[in-house]
Amino acid sequence: MIVRNGMVAFLGHDDFDRADLRIEDGRFTGIAQGLEPAPGEEVVDASGLLVFPGAIDPHVHFDEPGFTHREDFLHGTSEAAKGGVTTVIDMPCTSLPPVTTAAAFDNKLGIVEKSAVVDYAFFGGVSGHTVEASLGPGGAGDAGGPAGPGGRGEMAALAERGVVGFKCYFISGMETFTRVTHDDFARIVREAARVGRPVLLHAEDLDYVTAATARIKAARGNGAPQWMDYALSRDEAAETVAVASALALAAGSEASLHIVHVGTAAAARLVAATDATCETCAHYLAFGREDFDGGPGRPARGASLKTMPVVKSRGEADRLWELLAMGDIDFTTSDHAPAQAGEKETGNPWTAYGGIPGTGTMFPYLLSEGYFAGRLSLPRLLEASSSAAARRYGLSARKGSIEVGKDADFVLVDPSATTTLRGEGLFSKGKITPFEGMVFKGRIAATWLRGHPVYDARSRDAAGRPTGGRIVAAPGTGKFLRWGYR
Ligand SMILES: [Zn+2]
Repeated sequence: MIVRNGMVAFLGHDDFDRADLRIEDGRFTGIAQGLEPAPGEEVVDASGLLVFPGAIDPHVHFDEPGFTHREDFLHGTSEAAKGGVTTVIDMPCTSLPPVTTAAAFDNKLGIVEKSAVVDYAFFGGVSGHTVEASLGPGGAGDAGGPAGPGGRGEMAALAERGVVGFKCYFISGMETFTRVTHDDFARIVREAARVGRPVLLHAEDLDYVTAATARIKAARGNGAPQWMDYALSRDEAAETVAVASALALAAGSEASLHIVHVGTAAAARLVAATDATCETCAHYLAFGREDFDGGPGRPARGASLKTMPVVKSRGEADRLWELLAMGDIDFTTSDHAPAQAGEKETGNPWTAYGGIPGTGTMFPYLLSEGYFAGRLSLPRLLEASSSAAARRYGLSARKGSIEVGKDADFVLVDPSATTTLRGEGLFSKGKITPFEGMVFKGRIAATWLRGHPVYDARSRDAAGRPTGGRIVAAPGTGKFLRWGYR
C-alpha cells in the first residue's frame, strides 16, 4: 500500500516534507517522493492532508477490570483512536485487582486483549500494602542493598512480563492502591533501577495537603465549600515539595524517576536539572484554577475541570508551555480518567470525582494550541506527542516516528478544517470535559494502526452517506506491547 501526496512530519525536520509512504505487513518499508504503485497495490490519497506519527498517550486510566462504569478498554481505546493516539499505556492503580502482582497482570491482559482498538502497554504498580512483596527478598530494596541477588519480588516478575514502568503515589485517595512512605520509595527506586524500568510518581506532599485541607475547611466553617478551597488545598507548593523529596530519595538513581502530571513550573525545573524526566497534561496547559468559577470571557468549568492534582494558577500554564517548548518537560499525557455525571457533579468541590476524559483531546489540543498557535516547533510537537514517550518506555524500536522499519501508525489531519469539542461526541464512557465548546484548528481525518485504518472521520455507509467519524477496526485489533517491543 502507498499513502500518497501527504505532507509528512518526520522526526527532527523543521517543516513538513511532501512524501509517499509504502506500507507492507504493517510497517513502513519505503519513504520517497513519487513512489509508483506495483500492479494491484492499494493507494491512499493524502493530498491536502498532514501526516503525523500516531500519538502516544503514556498515562491513561481505562479502569478494566474494576471500575468499568467509568471507563473500559473498548471505549478508552476508541476515544484514543479518535484523537490520533495509536499507543496508550494504562495505569495499574485503577484496575481491580491493581496490577501489583504478576497474577493481576495476567488477569488484566486476558480481559482487555479482546477489546482494544489501539496498541497498549501496562505499567505495574507498588501500593503501600504491597511494598515488601513488590521488592521481594534479596531485592535492591532490601537492607542488604543493591548487591542482593534480587529477582524474587513482584517488581521483578512484572518486569519480566514486560511492564514499562512502576507507578507509586506520595498521596492517594484510593483504598485499593495506597501511598508509599518516603522510606519505601527510596527502596522502590533502587529496585526499579535494578530491573531496568522507571518509577512514575504522583508527586503531591501528604503532610502539606493534609494540613492545608484541614485549615481551609476550618476557615470555611459551615459555609458552602468553594472551588478555590479545593484548589488551594493542593497548590503549587504541594507539588514542588513532593518533587524535591522524590529527587532527594532517588539520589544516584534519578534516571529511574519520572514525575507524572506536573502542573507547576518550579517542579518541572527541579526535574529538568537532573536525569529524571517529567510530563505535563493538556489541562495544565489550557486552564488555571480561576477557570473553576470562570470570569469575563471564560466559562465556569466547575466539576468538569476537577483533576488530581488540580490545575494551578493561570500563569503556570504559560510557563509550562515554555518548558515544554525547551524540552525541560519531556512529553505530554492525558491522565485520562473519566467518570459519570453522578460521580462528577456532586455539588461539592471536595467530593466531585477528580479526573477527566483526555486521551482523545490531547493531540488535537497540542496540535492546535501548540504547533498551529506557534508555541511549539514541529520537532517539539513530535517529541512531546510521541517520540519522547516511546524512548522513555522502551517502545522506540517500532513506535514514535515515521521511519522505515517502524510500525505504520499515523494520523491524517486536515489543516484547513476545525474541530469543536463536544463532550457528547466523545467515544469515552465519560462525557464531561473541561474542553467543552473549544474550537481547535485542524481536524483528524483518519487514524491508522500498523497499516490499517482504526478511526475514519470520512466513512460512508453502503449508500454513500457520511456516517460521521467512527471506529472502523474490530475490538481486539490493538495488541499488547512489551518493554523492548520490536
Ligand atoms: Zn493518573
